[in-house]
Amino acid sequence: MERFDELLKNMADKEDCIVPEGFDARLQKALDGLPPRAKKAGLGAVKGALIAVAVCAALVCTAFAASPGLRGLLAEALARMYPLVAPLGVAFPLLKLRKLKSQWGNCHWAQGYITLNTALARCPEELRDYVALHELVHFLHHDHGPGFYARMDALMPDWRRRRKTLKGYSGALERDGIRKV
Ligand SMILES: [Zn+2]
Repeated sequence: MERFDELLKNMADKEDCIVPEGFDARLQKALDGLPPRAKKAGLGAVKGALIAVAVCAALVCTAFAASPGLRGLLAEALARMYPLVAPLGVAFPLLKLRKLKSQWGNCHWAQGYITLNTALARCPEELRDYVALHELVHFLHHDHGPGFYARMDALMPDWRRRRKTLKGYSGALERDGIRKV
């Protein structure tokens, strides 16, 4: 219980954490009238749930704190590769990040955005670049036809080597069965 009280106090000290004012008093009032054993059990359950919420909130905060770096890494890959396709008339796309399970990225060419897998942040820069370029080229060639590969050959002659290396990073995805990006 001491640890819980400490946790509540820490939460209350932080501006972004919301602990209802008078929470303890209201909880106590709600529990008044219950038999002592039920009261104890009820209090324990509520406090346990609050601890779980606090832990979840901390995890979410951590994830958000990490996101600028993550976004930066993948946005940089896009920015590095974009000059290769800009002269071909490709408009700079919106970038969305997602935790995809089976793809490193995908291109929503009709909507003007590409999605990159957040797991790419754990891959070397040359592989992030390869995936970014692959998706950018989809604005020109929507499928994986000969035109697509010819364009990749022209813009990134060693893309096959990078693709092979990327396969070694399949552990960075949640599950195996990576499809072609
Ligand atoms: Zn593709």
